[in-house]
Amino acid sequence: MTIVMKANEIRKTFLDFFASKQHLIVPSAPLVPKNDSTLMFINSGMAPFKDFFLGNGNPPAKRIADTQKCLRVSGKHNDLEDVGIDTYHHTLFEMLGNWSFGDYFKKEAIAWAWELLTDVYKLPKDRLYVTVFGGDKGDNLQPDDEAFAIWEQILGGKERILYGSKKDNFWEMGETGPCGPCSEIHIDLRPDEERKKVSGYDLVNNDDPQVIEIWNNVFMEFERKADKSLVKLPAQHVDTGMGFERLVRAIQNKTSNYDTDIFTPTLAIIEELSGLKYGQSEPTDIAMRVIADHIRAIAFTIADGQLPSNVKQGYVIRRILRRAVRYGYSRLNLREPFLVKLIPNLATQFADVFPELKAQQEFVTKVIFEEESSFLRTLENGLRLFEQIKPTVKSNVVEGKVVFELYDTFGFPVDLTALIARENGFSIDEEGFKVLMAEQKERGRSATKVSAGDWVIVDEDFEKTEFIGYEYQECTTKIVKYRELKDAKQSYFQIVLEKTPFYAESGGQVGDTGTLSVISKQGTVTLNVFDTKKENDLIVHLIKATPQGLEALAGLNVLAGLEVKAKIDTNRRSLTENNHSATHLVHAALRQVLGTHVAQKGSLVNEELLRFDFSHFAKVTDEELATVESIVNQKIRENIALDERRNVPIEEAKNLGAMALFGEKYGDFVRVITFDKNYSVELCGGTHVPSTGKIGAFKFIAESSVAAGVRRIEAVTSVKAEQLVSEQLAVVSELKELLNKNPKDIVKTVSNLLEEKADLQKQIEAYQHKEIQAVKQSLLGKITQQNGVAVIAEIVTLPHAEALRTVAFELKNQVENLFLVLASEISGKPQIAVMIADNLVKDKGLHAGNIVKELAKEIKGGGGGQPFFATAGGNDVSGLGKVVEKGKGLV
Ligand code: ATP
Ligand code: MG
Repeated sequence: MTIVMKANEIRKTFLDFFASKQHLIVPSAPLVPKNDSTLMFINSGMAPFKDFFLGNGNPPAKRIADTQKCLRVSGKHNDLEDVGIDTYHHTLFEMLGNWSFGDYFKKEAIAWAWELLTDVYKLPKDRLYVTVFGGDKGDNLQPDDEAFAIWEQILGGKERILYGSKKDNFWEMGETGPCGPCSEIHIDLRPDEERKKVSGYDLVNNDDPQVIEIWNNVFMEFERKADKSLVKLPAQHVDTGMGFERLVRAIQNKTSNYDTDIFTPTLAIIEELSGLKYGQSEPTDIAMRVIADHIRAIAFTIADGQLPSNVKQGYVIRRILRRAVRYGYSRLNLREPFLVKLIPNLATQFADVFPELKAQQEFVTKVIFEEESSFLRTLENGLRLFEQIKPTVKSNVVEGKVVFELYDTFGFPVDLTALIARENGFSIDEEGFKVLMAEQKERGRSATKVSAGDWVIVDEDFEKTEFIGYEYQECTTKIVKYRELKDAKQSYFQIVLEKTPFYAESGGQVGDTGTLSVISKQGTVTLNVFDTKKENDLIVHLIKATPQGLEALAGLNVLAGLEVKAKIDTNRRSLTENNHSATHLVHAALRQVLGTHVAQKGSLVNEELLRFDFSHFAKVTDEELATVESIVNQKIRENIALDERRNVPIEEAKNLGAMALFGEKYGDFVRVITFDKNYSVELCGGTHVPSTGKIGAFKFIAESSVAAGVRRIEAVTSVKAEQLVSEQLAVVSELKELLNKNPKDIVKTVSNLLEEKADLQKQIEAYQHKEIQAVKQSLLGKITQQNGVAVIAEIVTLPHAEALRTVAFELKNQVENLFLVLASEISGKPQIAVMIADNLVKDKGLHAGNIVKELAKEIKGGGGGQPFFATAGGNDVSGLGKVVEKGKGLV
């Protein structure tokens, strides 16, 4: 009997194999990339190393290997709709990779890939096929004959090598950037009989679920420029990606990724929860696969710090979660939160590779539970809503407009609408819906589209901007590159300097503003920096293209060698620093007061305020807030000096007791900010006060909830805190003057006043009630009988519009055959009410709504209502007499 390798061993074997080839093994980077606005989620093993390929910064080693969590649910790579339907695309999957940064190239990469698959994993050679790039005329690219020759030698023939198209075998990072030919390895997992009938060779890259790609080796040779041209890279790299789940399936010889021990434990729990068996029917199998897959994406993304929300990554996660719940609800009859029940197994299964889930299990569970429960409620509401829509459905098709509204306004997914429609014997107008969706998308796109030109390189040797803003607020430097950007609203420039004091937005702290003064023979031109951002490893200064600035920038090429004086807005930076340091103090205080489950979930620090989101399961009470505030102010008064350490290896930072360690990539060197080593130690790249006394004072301004299990506090410091206190005190002294009391009595005085007011209100109401009754009584005496109709048409004096109604309704109950027209001036405006007895409405066809409209002309107004009762308001009180006259003559 052969012993089949378990998934965990297979992963370890891969890493050990490349370690033996001198690769540094690093852990997976978090799923949500930092400082990369072009990518929502890490979607390939290379994404975290992008900077190194772009030449911004140096890798920790020339050879690296890892397993990277990847998510392909948005943008260029989006497999979401296939997941669960097929058996080899996942939302979250692991990509095993080995990397060469300007070190080995095609020969070694190909040889090692073959050695690992066939010698170590013992995959059958006759089931493997490889592809190489076949060239592209349009792009003027030659076939990759070099890779072909290497493969031919290893395989001892050409029979298993295919030339592939640009689509399959030329890899590009994005619109621009590094790219090159690739060589894929495919495996044919069909039974022998079928392989005899049709050769696997003919099924490669043909969407056969049993003939699948497992490994892609990319050889980065070129860089794609904005004008689409290609230039050869100075150093060549290797970037490989092997789908772990597919590899395990091949080694364990299964027909589906879900039959491997990566997924079977989760599927077993789903079977238990639903009382159904996996493998019994396709619709329920799909649902089980969807759930077993999606829970991984949801749990690990939340563990990596991304909460479900209504925007960006948060929205994608929310949609994945809802897709899973929907399948469970409609196909497996799961009516209670079930995703949460899959977490404990997952946390244990991945404790060694991705410990972040186990470490935050309680929090992740809480977040998922809330999301799941609230979506289940939405589903039930949707079903109810559908019941209401049912009668309006014409010719059994639910209109596209209705489907869109359900989706857009009620968050109701289309496929669910389709499902419910089907259950009711309807279909939906999918085309109509798609048109409306496309229109909405287009509106979104045109608002955010940014087009970027190529970087204009001024200094070829430039590697990385030196950030000197921890020490300096200004410096003399040089421009090393710049480019122009345009979006729907404006055109602006990005400028990169050799060194800069400008802090680029990150870690919640806003980017610096300030000026760049370019000094030339013609004089000095000052450009206003309105924001500073990070783009991968670059620090980019943003400058609006004002006419004067444009002129200066047009000459930048010439001015390149000239000096630039970079100076930040020091006042804004200083206020921002107060808030940033205060954020650390409050974080520590919250942990002291509420417990160590408090962990940062988001933050914003600018010159106005600080905002801090953290995990906590209940509202922070007023007493707790008061305690936290007093601890922070105590720490401010202690005037604790800043202890800043740079380039600390992540492992060492952990030993220092630093908080917030998830979200960092291995190999990272971090900066540790300490205010009293027994109080606050945090990883942070932001700028801080030299000692806490400078913060001056700290005051909370708000406490609220942002998501399940996440609270938000907002606070102000220094000048703003002082302003807040002064303003509040001013309000108190104003009140004091108004009430002629000293502040201590104010609260009591005001509550007495409120009580008195309530008493008076009651008295007024009683008085008004009497008045209304008197009016009614006098009207009863003014009835005239005309043709069997009891007519009352009078001008009355009443306190409010509601009283007019009351009188009308009471008279209706008391007087038979009533025809009533009441006119009144209320708060300076004319008001009319018409009331007609039900039998008159029925027998004589009278309609109060129509009558009131006619009468309202006399008071220059309008109104309407039901057949028996209607009201109108107007602008001309002098017409009230006419109203009454007319009313009398109507019967
Ligand atoms: P496919 O054509 O099968 O979607 P791909 O060309 O998109 O694959 P690459 O971008 O080359 O794949 O990624 C490298 C490897 O990652 C693939 O060889 C495959 O093993 C794996 N992979 C890609 N997408 C997924 C996915 N959605 N789920 C699981 N594994 C995947
Ligand atoms: Mg793909």
